[in-house]
Amino acid sequence: MIKKLFYTTTALALATTIGLTAMAQNKDTKLAITDLGSGIYMIEGAGGNVGLSVGDDGAFLIDDQFAHMSEKILAAVAERSDQPLAYVINTHYHGDHTGGNEQMADSGARIVAHDNVRKRLLESDEQPSDAALPIITFSEEVTFHWNDHEVFVSHPLNAHTDGDAVVMFKTANIIHLGDTFFSGRWPYIDLDGGGTVAGYIANLEYYAGQIDADTKVIPGHGPLSNRQDIEEMIAILKDSQQRVLALKQAGKTEAEIIAAKPLADYESYDWRFINSEKMIKTFLKDASL
Ligand SMILES: [Zn+2]
Repeated sequence: MIKKLFYTTTALALATTIGLTAMAQNKDTKLAITDLGSGIYMIEGAGGNVGLSVGDDGAFLIDDQFAHMSEKILAAVAERSDQPLAYVINTHYHGDHTGGNEQMADSGARIVAHDNVRKRLLESDEQPSDAALPIITFSEEVTFHWNDHEVFVSHPLNAHTDGDAVVMFKTANIIHLGDTFFSGRWPYIDLDGGGTVAGYIANLEYYAGQIDADTKVIPGHGPLSNRQDIEEMIAILKDSQQRVLALKQAGKTEAEIIAAKPLADYESYDWRFINSEKMIKTFLKDASL
């Protein structure tokens, strides 16, 4: 079994890792599968949301959660596809999205990702096996003509990490944003993994402009969403960043800014891994980089 690939050890990342480890240990997690039409499904389980396309050309996954979920994910694929699993696209390098790579590769899938996903997996302390590494990588974009879909995979900006991939099923009007979108909750922006706050916001603005009100949006974490949910997140991030940077410009220290609770009215966006204090630290750290 592949060891779980986790984040580098900043306080923020460490806290996130601990949370994800706790989640990873819950082996009883069941999958919740939503049929989005056009042979495309959203699969929720332990870790990032998975996208699945089935059809005559073969099954195609977007992300594969933690290693211990692989059996369930492969069973869900087999139930819906009489063709084998052909490809897995990793939306980025984090272990809650790539942990199943080895098992997926063992069952015949080719792993596809941005160049920096392979690079960061190779550089990680938890040396992944060759099978767990993407064997097809791209720098900007790649299109799959697969299962009667035009599947457009692109990396416009460093947002959540420097290897994010966004997957768009153009005619089906479905998009998987990976962790460039956490729906209804604060995002984790992996600054040590090449992410930036400005890139995160600009990336969401770009994709909000590429889709319409009917587009089905699969976020990296959170429920199935739509363009309005993305627009809401853009507004909240811009406003929050402005509030925090205004306090910094007024000469406040990090501790003073946290104590002033400038994001108190957004506390409904707090969740297990990222609360407003961590968000404040992310804004300040990003500004000092
Ligand atoms: Zn992530």
